[in-house]
Amino acid sequence: MPSSTHSMNTGETEPVWVHHMPYQRYPDFPPLSENIKADVCIIGAGIAGISIAYELVNRGKSVTMIEARHVLSGESGRAGGHLSNALDDGYIKIEKEHGFKGAQAAADSHTWALERVGEICKSIGIDCDYHRLPGYEISPYPRGHPNHRTHVACLREEVELAKRLGLSASFHDDLTVPGWDGRPDQRGGAIFAGQATFHPTKYCIGVLHWLKTQPNFRCFAHTRMTSTDESDVVKIHTHDGHTITAADMVQATCAPLQRLGVVAEMQSMRTYCVAIRVPKDSVKDCLIGAGPYRYAKFTECNHKDDYMVLGGCDHTVGQEKTGGRFAELETWARQRFTNAGSVDYQWSGQIFEPLDYMACIGKEQGQKHTYMVTGDSGNGLTHGALAGKLIADEMGGLDNPWASLYNPDRTLRASTVPRLLQHAVTHYGQCTQPDVKDIEDLEIGSGGSSRKAHWHPWRCIKTRESKRNDLVPSVRI
Ligand SMILES: Cc1cc2nc3c(=O)[nH]c(=O)nc-3n(C[C@H](O)[C@H](O)[C@H](O)COP(=O)(O)OP(=O)(O)OC[C@H]3O[C@@H](n4cnc5c(N)ncnc54)[C@H](O)[C@@H]3O)c2cc1C
Repeated sequence: MPSSTHSMNTGETEPVWVHHMPYQRYPDFPPLSENIKADVCIIGAGIAGISIAYELVNRGKSVTMIEARHVLSGESGRAGGHLSNALDDGYIKIEKEHGFKGAQAAADSHTWALERVGEICKSIGIDCDYHRLPGYEISPYPRGHPNHRTHVACLREEVELAKRLGLSASFHDDLTVPGWDGRPDQRGGAIFAGQATFHPTKYCIGVLHWLKTQPNFRCFAHTRMTSTDESDVVKIHTHDGHTITAADMVQATCAPLQRLGVVAEMQSMRTYCVAIRVPKDSVKDCLIGAGPYRYAKFTECNHKDDYMVLGGCDHTVGQEKTGGRFAELETWARQRFTNAGSVDYQWSGQIFEPLDYMACIGKEQGQKHTYMVTGDSGNGLTHGALAGKLIADEMGGLDNPWASLYNPDRTLRASTVPRLLQHAVTHYGQCTQPDVKDIEDLEIGSGGSSRKAHWHPWRCIKTRESKRNDLVPSVRI
């Protein structure tokens, strides 16, 4: 289903969330038309920017938010809707990288975040189907597959570590997801109690409606930040030539802007979702995880059916073919849930995987008044929510026990360096090797590296408007 209004959405496809929250119900905000001042300027109106605004406004700060397109037009409008402290990367890897104390901070902060979303819903009266539910983690391999036993053994270890971190987890040899009546037998796995789910756009729009009524909050849409400079204050310059002068600024733009050091430490991944009808109550209401690249949850379709929102098939951006992923997800669902009906929505989006698994949230390197939130690692909804507290605490001079784990200026451990080098070789090696000669070689919306007419290679994208041999440079390398 093509997007009716391109500025509402980063993609060509619509996520299932428009089914019950059409764009017409999004609040309107005008573009910025003059120079203004604020205590804090937040760039980006996704869940991170909105959560930070909520916490700061409640602490009495005057907050101005600017958004390049329409509010919620980034990845938050395309998420899967899991709010989880059973993190995608797993605590074993996180502990290896950040020690037990770091893993504890990760568990505590994501638990805080998933509970905070519920508290906010209650406190300002948002009806977004927020509820707590168990997370079922099963092996991605069928029984009998040589990897099944190894994966199940890892899940057992995860459960033991999760329990030491204070999470409510248990392992079950014959675990099955109630309602999984298809053939693949992937029995055996873990249950993480106390996870949560919601309708992400109903939630974010609900918070924005509340913010709109607050005297110390302003928001300007269709207002793109193009550059900033920091002295005793921060000046944020917009594409239309206006300036916001603020004591502090937060870049909640999902992809980090102007910070190539941070970009180098993250892998950009494309990820996919389909919403497939299943009869109401035919499958247990739970979060399902089957390895890193298959997950599911349920959201209402109508009085008869629910949608199973099935996601995964992640791959590195620009280095693998995109086609066929939706069909792969659909087949997976049909093989396991024989009641599955039509696929009504299919969409994709981008996530950022930091090489040491944790998001970068806090003060930017070498800056006194500029903060960032990036590196969602597939758990960007909870990362966004917890960024609200982390950043508000840091701005208020309060110690926060999670701050060092998320510090954007943290030093990578020696064990991460080989992954960093491998990432640099595959990613930047490809960027500097021109692979696009002619626009005819590219599909609309795809890109590559070109040296055409420039001494430096350029990352290029082909837009709808691009004419023959007319590539639009996006980033100069
Ligand atoms: C398909 C998919 C499924 C996912 N499922 C889950 C899930 O189930 N659970 C989970 O926890 N996470 C999930 N994620 C990850 C999660 O959705 C994201 O990490 C999270 O929404 C990012 O929020 P954000 O506020 O940081 O960024 P965004 O929502 O992308 O918001 C950033 C905003 O900044 C604006 N912006 C950018 N540059 C500028 C500029 N120069 N000036 C002004 N504005 C600017 C953008 O237009 C955008 O609106 C999923 C992601 C995808 C793609």
